[in-house]
Amino acid sequence: MIPRTILTSEHEQFRDSVRRFLDREVAPHHERWEEEGMVSREVWLKAGAAGLLCTGMPPEYGGAGADFRYVAILTEEMSRRVFSGPGFRLHSDIVAPYILHYGTEAQKQRWLPPMARGEAIGALAMTEPGAGSDVQAIRTTALRQGEELVVNGSKTFITNGQLADLVILACKTDARAGAKGVSLVLVETDRPGFKRGRNLKKLGQKAQDTSELFFEDLRLPASNLLGEEGRGFEYMMTELPQERLLIALTAVAMAEAALEWTLDYTRQRQAFGRPLAEFQTNRFKLAEMKTEIQIGRVFLDRCLELHLEGKLDVETAAMAKYWLTELEGRVIDQCLQMHGGYGYMLEYPIARAFADARVHRIYGGSNEIMRELVARHL
Ligand SMILES: Cc1cc2nc3c(=O)[nH]c(=O)nc-3n(C[C@H](O)[C@H](O)[C@H](O)COP(=O)(O)OP(=O)(O)OC[C@H]3O[C@@H](n4cnc5c(N)ncnc54)[C@H](O)[C@@H]3O)c2cc1C
Repeated sequence: MIPRTILTSEHEQFRDSVRRFLDREVAPHHERWEEEGMVSREVWLKAGAAGLLCTGMPPEYGGAGADFRYVAILTEEMSRRVFSGPGFRLHSDIVAPYILHYGTEAQKQRWLPPMARGEAIGALAMTEPGAGSDVQAIRTTALRQGEELVVNGSKTFITNGQLADLVILACKTDARAGAKGVSLVLVETDRPGFKRGRNLKKLGQKAQDTSELFFEDLRLPASNLLGEEGRGFEYMMTELPQERLLIALTAVAMAEAALEWTLDYTRQRQAFGRPLAEFQTNRFKLAEMKTEIQIGRVFLDRCLELHLEGKLDVETAAMAKYWLTELEGRVIDQCLQMHGGYGYMLEYPIARAFADARVHRIYGGSNEIMRELVARHL
């Protein structure tokens, strides 16, 4: 086996504390959250108190100034346990960085400390019923009237949508312009004119609230613009590689876990007088999965290393996202097959992983769009 070289003993100690947190605060509740369609606000507060939210933010904004490997560890541990309910990753490592990178000092002071404590929950709303992959085609507008912006439109599939206190909204401040008309605004969800739609019923990730959001003549002070007007598209393109790396980290952790469950299962389960793991057809498939996951892990850790150096480019992040989520899909499908009928039962983690993982090939930029990004650089 090729050992992982990028983690120190401090990172591994952090992994132990994450495991203890998940055992104590998530494991006993996740099934109930799946039935209820969302997690409790309490787990957000507990994660904040345990220092697990916004770990990468500087200490002056409530974070720990921790490097991205800590984020990777939290992502790996939650993924291995198929704990897709708490939307910590999106909140801490997608929403908060937008505020840190493009926000004014006042916006950072207002939002980042309560986000790190789990008191304010963040969401990012780009997708609309009529525009997903083609972000430039969004129709939600935020048009100036004096010192205010008036927001109208709707969003769908928004992670943390039911719980969010703050939504970073992608909208058009110039409805006639394409990418250059896109801006980001901060929307507090207690403003009149903000409505939450349905908590959408999904194939997997059932404890994660994914929602429709509506904006009807919602008035915002112009100071709620995030960064400069007309530069929202550029900001999103800059931030997306980290989101894609996070999805890739989830994918490899879930594939590794799926293989471990399957090794255990096939060693124990007997058919025709032998453990399933002894049939050569299964042995070869297990060996192939082990090999492919190892190759994926080495590539991913190299991407992680580049990201730590600020050098992970759009193309490489796109390669990692599409290739590793497709590896994950192949591995989990094959592992489920080796579980037979039990693999189809939700009490087995492989069944939940199968349902949860499917969306990794769709969101964060679909895998077709990832190929497009790679092709553009050829
Ligand atoms: C569980 C879940 C959570 C989500 N969370 C969020 C969130 O928090 N915030 C947010 O803004 N969005 C979120 N999304 C939305 C997600 O990012 C979009 O679903 C995704 O970008 C695809 O957009 P779409 O669904 O409109 O599909 P479409 O863009 O309509 O695409 C449909 C199909 O056509 C393909 N396609 C599109 N364009 C091309 C092309 N040029 N070449 C080849 N094929 C193409 C796509 O790959 C896809 O297979 C979430 C989605 C889900 C399911």
